[in-house]
Amino acid sequence: MSDFDGIIVGGGHNGLTCAAYLAKAGLSVAVVERNPAAGGACATRELTLPGFRHNTHSNYHFIEEGPVPADLELHRYGLRYIYPDVQHAMIFRDGRAITVHRDPERTAASFARFSRADADTWLDLYRTYGEQARELMNGFLYSAPLPPAELAQRLRGELGADLLSYVSQTLYEAVDRNFDSEQVRVLFKSFLHAISVENVPGTGGFFPRLLSRLARLGLPVGGADNVARALEGVITEHGGSVLTGAHVERILVGDARAVGVRLADGRELTAGRFVASAVDAPQTLRLAGPDNFGAEVAAKVEAYKWAGHSIVSLHLALAEPPRYRAAAFDPDVERAFLVVLGADSSDELTRDFEDIHAGRLPERPAGNGAVPSLFDPSYAPPGKHVAFWWPWAPYDLDGDAANWDARQHEIAELLLAQWAEYAPNLRPGAGTGSPVLGMRLFSPLDIERSCVNMVRGSHHVGAYEPAQLGGNRPVPELGRYRTPIDGLYLCGASSHPGGSVSGAPGYNGASAIVEDLGIKPWWTPIPSPSWPAAS
Ligand SMILES: Cc1cc2nc3c(=O)[nH]c(=O)nc-3n(C[C@H](O)[C@H](O)[C@H](O)COP(=O)(O)OP(=O)(O)OC[C@H]3O[C@@H](n4cnc5c(N)ncnc54)[C@H](O)[C@@H]3O)c2cc1C
Repeated sequence: MSDFDGIIVGGGHNGLTCAAYLAKAGLSVAVVERNPAAGGACATRELTLPGFRHNTHSNYHFIEEGPVPADLELHRYGLRYIYPDVQHAMIFRDGRAITVHRDPERTAASFARFSRADADTWLDLYRTYGEQARELMNGFLYSAPLPPAELAQRLRGELGADLLSYVSQTLYEAVDRNFDSEQVRVLFKSFLHAISVENVPGTGGFFPRLLSRLARLGLPVGGADNVARALEGVITEHGGSVLTGAHVERILVGDARAVGVRLADGRELTAGRFVASAVDAPQTLRLAGPDNFGAEVAAKVEAYKWAGHSIVSLHLALAEPPRYRAAAFDPDVERAFLVVLGADSSDELTRDFEDIHAGRLPERPAGNGAVPSLFDPSYAPPGKHVAFWWPWAPYDLDGDAANWDARQHEIAELLLAQWAEYAPNLRPGAGTGSPVLGMRLFSPLDIERSCVNMVRGSHHVGAYEPAQLGGNRPVPELGRYRTPIDGLYLCGASSHPGGSVSGAPGYNGASAIVEDLGIKPWWTPIPSPSWPAAS
């Protein structure tokens, strides 16, 4: 007798998603998580002062665009989202700004202040990718990746050809071919960098993917950790367990089959039917023993690349929200959910990433931030606010990640001063007194410490480049959630479609497991992408 039918290693939202689908399928499952609470990057902590709740990792979610919340009825377990009308603002140093709204016409009106042609292009792109291809995008994300030739066959007609034409492009080529205004270009490039994409050939396909989600970002009510609490609710209601404070140090393999896990405290848990790893592929390899993968596959997995940049977060507890100068140009800036600041041109963005790749914090850091309490007051005590800014940053700061700890106060002050250039009320001593009640830097090293699978602060758990996209993620031999070890599966963000709070790798991992176990899914599977859609 085994302890469980299946064990899921790692209790991030992907591990929890995989476990929830399988628990609802009637399997006895246990999720094993090393941190004191499950959730991984769906985490909310009082980082600055009591009562100020900061989303330490993820803040903008689009998980409700996919099938997971509805399939699992996560609203019954307390998961709720707020979708701000003004979704994004890109603020420039000269006091101008572009805003992106849920209403595409309002976005077009904002773009038109910079370029009439870009406003028209936006409306065309939105109709195509934000509306027409919305379901198609779910097909890409929530099904096993297809070989490129098969995919090309399934994407026909004008839309299919247009979509495929992005695939070999760089991120900047994909943006520049559509927009003329430098400001509109920087807006889209910044969004794509925010999801960890870099300007390398083969990343242009992220542009249409982004368009399908761009104006559909939600704030998790009460905190990003509620994603984890809701998923845990499903698992436990269906007889599963979530074990926390339990570091897996070994995936047990017997007769070339995954049969359980050994924890750091020496306990062993056995699994009769499968083990699914929701942690990164290189760690999975080491946990299960490289020899069991074969030398060639093991070498490829060990060579898995982490992202070339990370994020440094400045979290603030505030007496009042940032008051942006750019609100004089566009008052909607003060109601915007995601606010990008720091870069005015593509050249500046390029320079920033050159600095980051050389291990330097850019002279003018750039990235996005938000004030969650503007939309959901439960994030802060009455009348108060929480805010953060997430500039892109290197992991090895000046050659050594330990510098993040040594220089945390200096860097926090530096980032605050830069932020205050755009929001003068954040300047120390501004007005009747600084509204900054508390402040905390959360560095790339902190990201790695809290989610050990985000190696080198790689917040999407591995670089996005063609050799690690689609069926190549993490490596072609493991690209369909299965491994050479019988009964060992992958279901974390180092598998297709990668990072973000989508639940997609967890969903796809669960689909592979039920298929192999001969269990009919209780949910309606999302069909593989095809255009025109199969009737
Ligand atoms: C600063 C930051 C901001 C982000 N912002 C957003 C955002 O706004 N929107 C968005 O969609 N995405 C965002 N992301 C990305 C997103 O959070 C991740 O891509 C996603 O959460 C990955 O989910 P996961 O479940 O695969 O991995 P994780 O959330 O990392 O979970 C993996 C879990 O496995 C556990 N684990 C690892 N090793 C072991 C072991 N040996 N034994 C037991 N447990 C183990 C870890 O402790 C962790 O809990 C952000 C990430 C960061 C870091």
